[in-house]
Amino acid sequence: MWHIMQKFSRKLGSMTDFPQIKVALQNVIYNSLTPVEFEEGWAEVVETFKLKEAKESYKWLVGLYNQREMWIPAYVKHIFWAGMQTTQRVESINSFFDGYLKKNTRLYQFAPRYCKAMESRANDEKAADVNCCRFTRSLVGEFAVERKFQKLYTDAKFVEVQIQCMRVCYVTPITSKVVSDVEVEHTVSDKVWVWSKFLRKEISLAGRKRIYVVLFNKETSFAKCDCKHFECHGIMCRHIIKVLDVEDVENVPVGYIVDRWRKDIQRKHTLVKVAYHDPEKTEEVKRYDRIMNAVEPAALRGSLSEQKLDLVIEGIMNIVLRLDESDALSAFGDNEAGALTSGGNRMAIVGTTTPGSVNKPPNSVGDDTTTLTPLLWLKILFRAVV
Ligand SMILES: [Zn+2]
Repeated sequence: MWHIMQKFSRKLGSMTDFPQIKVALQNVIYNSLTPVEFEEGWAEVVETFKLKEAKESYKWLVGLYNQREMWIPAYVKHIFWAGMQTTQRVESINSFFDGYLKKNTRLYQFAPRYCKAMESRANDEKAADVNCCRFTRSLVGEFAVERKFQKLYTDAKFVEVQIQCMRVCYVTPITSKVVSDVEVEHTVSDKVWVWSKFLRKEISLAGRKRIYVVLFNKETSFAKCDCKHFECHGIMCRHIIKVLDVEDVENVPVGYIVDRWRKDIQRKHTLVKVAYHDPEKTEEVKRYDRIMNAVEPAALRGSLSEQKLDLVIEGIMNIVLRLDESDALSAFGDNEAGALTSGGNRMAIVGTTTPGSVNKPPNSVGDDTTTLTPLLWLKILFRAVV
């Protein structure tokens, strides 16, 4: 999209009303909420500025219009962009490599510099994680949503939640009507917020307001807004926050909690050694590597047949059960090592039904020929790990 907008002056610059045409097209492209709104706005700009008369330029615009489902925000708002703005994607990647890659960077220099940039990003992430654990940002209001995400989200994402909470004061409920046994349709009025390239932040357009429709489900307490902010960015919009407040919803539905923004979930990629990030300095990562090395041969052989797959899955599920048991005992202050080596516990686990043992009768103590097979496998596995 950024590349297309850059071409506007080259393709349309010869037209007499170019500055006004550019503003009108940008307004339709960035501020249309739905495909219908975009198509009507586009047709209006074409009509107002008589764009059809500029044959070559109009031909280029028709080409863009025909591919509108690929790049116009109103068509891609339902797609999750992991927090990236449509206008920021390219800029973000550019600034990411600033200082590491230049247009005259040679091919042999590319790989080490790329690794350096990625290492720097990994270290920044680590520092941000540490900060999230040490500091908690204060609340700006009394919304249940804000309290919930203060506890759950990383600081950067909590700031985005707070921005939506602060803008709730501009949201005014207009109507509410019951549309089915469980659904209520709310309409709310709100300011129009647009991204300012110069201020590098969202600003409200003076005197401009628009109506948003929020469909609230009374059974699940989940609401959907036609601004599609949650679907696109993973952050609840101010309209949904307002409707949940109006409907007296105190507990934020779990559907709004996006795991990738949570500070209490360790990102698994931090355990994987890659060229640009050498986490081998930590004992945790060393252990993780040893486990992966030990598991790989079993995974390869297990994939050869359904029978072998069952065996591997059963073995892994037994390990998980033993780890759960170990965690539970640790929580009560018992000796973990003692629990893991206890014969009685081991037999209890072997007799447990696991996903891998579907279609197989539960193991009995007397007939342990087959029950010992996964156990032997486990022993081999652990020997390899240790
Ligand atoms: Zn909304």
